[in-house]
Amino acid sequence: MMNDPFEARRLAMVNDQLRRRGIHDERVLIAMEEVKRHLFLPVGMEEEAYLDHPVPIGHGQTISQPYIVALMTELLQLEATDSVLEIGSGSGYQAAIIAKISDQVISLERIPEVATRAEENLRRAQIEGVRIIVADGTVGYPESSPYDAILVTAGAPSVPSPLLSQLADGGRLVAPIGDADIQHLVRVVRHGEEFVFESFEPVRFVPLIGQFGWQDQ
Ligand code: SAH
Repeated sequence: MMNDPFEARRLAMVNDQLRRRGIHDERVLIAMEEVKRHLFLPVGMEEEAYLDHPVPIGHGQTISQPYIVALMTELLQLEATDSVLEIGSGSGYQAAIIAKISDQVISLERIPEVATRAEENLRRAQIEGVRIIVADGTVGYPESSPYDAILVTAGAPSVPSPLLSQLADGGRLVAPIGDADIQHLVRVVRHGEEFVFESFEPVRFVPLIGQFGWQDQ
């Protein structure tokens, strides 16, 4: 971490915004200490990287608040050998955090320019193990299924059914579910053909647009 002018701010972010608010999965905390979040913001906006709120990244999209990234990652209960699918690459930051913990990460993004930027960000941050694919993530990515964990990082009216069928037995899915203005974080755990739903905090995400999400307008 030599010559990183942001390191002190990043460590403070992890302590003040994450540890103090109850994030306790050490793998998540270490990943967020290590990944240089300022490399995932548009040039000129690096100063915003460690603040306690979401930041616009262009194309009407946002990089989520650090606490929400941490909470969603913790809820996924990731293991090193897990195969993980993310829907909504955005800046690539959430995928980078997952890749620090789990070996195989596929991230789907519907806007080609956003996907290209996410790939550039991941390269600059020297993160390996993430495959970005331009696709409608509401239908998932059956080619590499089943997944031990699936994370949706855009707000959906309901959990897209193709994602449930691409979840491994014992797999976890986390998604913001609700209307366009407010959603709740939902976790679904698969036990055979049974799906157990739990609901967590209220959140606000940009819409998940696609066949099993909101209509494009
Ligand atoms: N995880 C991101 C933040 C996601 S912002 C990060 O760490 O920065 C939500 C992203 O979901 C946007 O980039 C948006 O274009 C994308 N998105 C919306 N609907 C989608 C869909 N059906 N499939 C794939 N990506 C989608």
